[in-house]
Amino acid sequence: MSKVYEHPLANNQAIKNFQKYLQIKSVQPNPDYGSCVDFLTEQAKELGLPIKIYEFVKGKPIVVISWTGINPDLPSIILNGHMDVVPVVESEWKYDPFAAEIDKNGNIYARGAQDMKCVSIQYLEAIRYLKQNGVKLRRTVHISFVPDEEIFSADGMALFAKSQEFKDLNVGFGLDECGPTPNNEYVVTNGERVSWTLEIVCHGNTGHGLMLIPNTAAEKVQYLLNKFLGYREESRKKMKHHLYDLGNVTSVNLTNIEGGVQSNVIPSKITMLFDCRVTPNDAVIFDALVKQWCQEAGGDSVTYKYICKDPVLPVTKTDDSNPFWKAFENIFKKRNNKLFVGILPGASDARFLREIGIPVLGMSPMPETPFLLHNHNEFLNAQTFLDGIEIYKELISAIANVE
Ligand code: ZN
Repeated sequence: MSKVYEHPLANNQAIKNFQKYLQIKSVQPNPDYGSCVDFLTEQAKELGLPIKIYEFVKGKPIVVISWTGINPDLPSIILNGHMDVVPVVESEWKYDPFAAEIDKNGNIYARGAQDMKCVSIQYLEAIRYLKQNGVKLRRTVHISFVPDEEIFSADGMALFAKSQEFKDLNVGFGLDECGPTPNNEYVVTNGERVSWTLEIVCHGNTGHGLMLIPNTAAEKVQYLLNKFLGYREESRKKMKHHLYDLGNVTSVNLTNIEGGVQSNVIPSKITMLFDCRVTPNDAVIFDALVKQWCQEAGGDSVTYKYICKDPVLPVTKTDDSNPFWKAFENIFKKRNNKLFVGILPGASDARFLREIGIPVLGMSPMPETPFLLHNHNEFLNAQTFLDGIEIYKELISAIANVE
């Protein structure tokens, strides 16, 4: 165990709140949501804001802290964050992953430091500041804290977004998470790649392994692998240097191949699995390509099906037609901060909101920060965290004041 170092920022109230939240072991598979609720209840009390706790599934609380706007009839803003974090391999960590220690460089080490307890506390601290300074916003702002994002959200946002309770919040726009960048950019995502798991079965002539039988399953596999791996290579070429380019291309990976009974029998059937992550713009054409390639590979002797096929959702508009985007973008222009707009390579709870027609942008303000989501030694610099609060002060004001 390393010696605790007292960093000058350690006494900052926002940092302390961040550490407190990080110290709660809301870690899968048995997250301590009870302590999250206690902590957030305390926060709401300090902020003088009402808190609601919905429990559609026992032990899976959904917490909403609300700040009523001047015109509460306007569609509201939701600032979403998930409470849970992924498990740790404790032996691989430099510090206790649930101690939230600050080292000499001001780095706060903890599971959830980047994904995404930072963002939830930044929302709260920005609102604390605005409220203390007598600011009143036009629209109502709801800060939501949801469970189980890291285990696909079935008892979390997937459920909440479909509920009457959510409908009653009259949400018109939302913010959710993204990730860090190693340079001085801020990444904002307006959509997500979808996950499609493809199973292809190639049938062919069987017989003795010493023969040169035509029309075997392996030849069809060869044709398909050339197509799929060729497509994969094209996607790789489209990626330039940016970490988030991945979101704007479709990736395919062969993840399983099975067939045959023993080494001297030509298999009559070979099955392949492909993990496909499809960027929204590619969905229609990729679907058509799969059909075409399977047909070319062997007509009726090659069959395919999607074991999983997420629906392709509308991306949130990042043009003048979306006043929330304009308000968002203006803040970054004013601050002279570079924005990278893209598609999230993975999935977040934003998809459940986009699915019901709510525009959502994903951002976690973490420039100059290594990507450590789900990795060992996840950390966020205290100053980067505090800078993020400054951004949210302006951002929340701007989007909640959209006419
Ligand atoms: Zn996350």
